Amino acid sequence: MNKLGATRFAVVALLFLASCSSGRRSAEFTLDGVTAPPRVCALNPQDFAQAERVPDFHLDNGCGVANGYKIYTINDVGLNPSALITCDLADSVSTWLSTMVQPAAQATYGQRVVAIKVLASYSCRSRDNINGAKLSEHGFGNAIDIGSFILEDGREVNVLHDYYGNGPDQKFLHSIRAQACGLFSTVLGPGSDADHSNHFHLDKMFLRPGRGTYCR
Ligand SMILES: [Zn+2]
Repeated sequence: MNKLGATRFAVVALLFLASCSSGRRSAEFTLDGVTAPPRVCALNPQDFAQAERVPDFHLDNGCGVANGYKIYTINDVGLNPSALITCDLADSVSTWLSTMVQPAAQATYGQRVVAIKVLASYSCRSRDNINGAKLSEHGFGNAIDIGSFILEDGREVNVLHDYYGNGPDQKFLHSIRAQACGLFSTVLGPGSDADHSNHFHLDKMFLRPGRGTYCR
């Protein structure tokens, strides 16, 4: 890494830390029953994504990201804005986009998804922003919230507005949500609870033996 790159990483890390400590969405949380994800990195995200490695960081309160990357595009799908997520999560998002989302978009619209709107990635906060709840997987960079999908022709398929709509948008959104279950540990969205009415939450929570995926 050159000196400019190193400086940029440091600035990025500081910005994330600043948003964590002073952000309005920073309810208190507990670490009881929370396990940080294992350091898994089967593929280098730079092989399938425009991605910058972010130096590992660990805060005293339990938040932190290991094997983190700032991702700008995955498989030529833009992330708007860019997301700080783990290598392992990036890998699964890549698989989801290329083997589930793009085929569904082609089948439904005859065109591909060119960008996704990211509502959250790394964020040091409790689950559902509830005071006293467990630390969210977002606190490890192990979760991503997606609010909409932008098609080649510029049209936006929006989770909040189109999930319960009629026709192709509903079919597309229901299909890619259902397929995500299993690839990800947790899949939440409209109908899960009030906090997820406007996005899909996808995470790779570490699953202890006997604990299955959580998709509802
Ligand atoms: Zn989320």
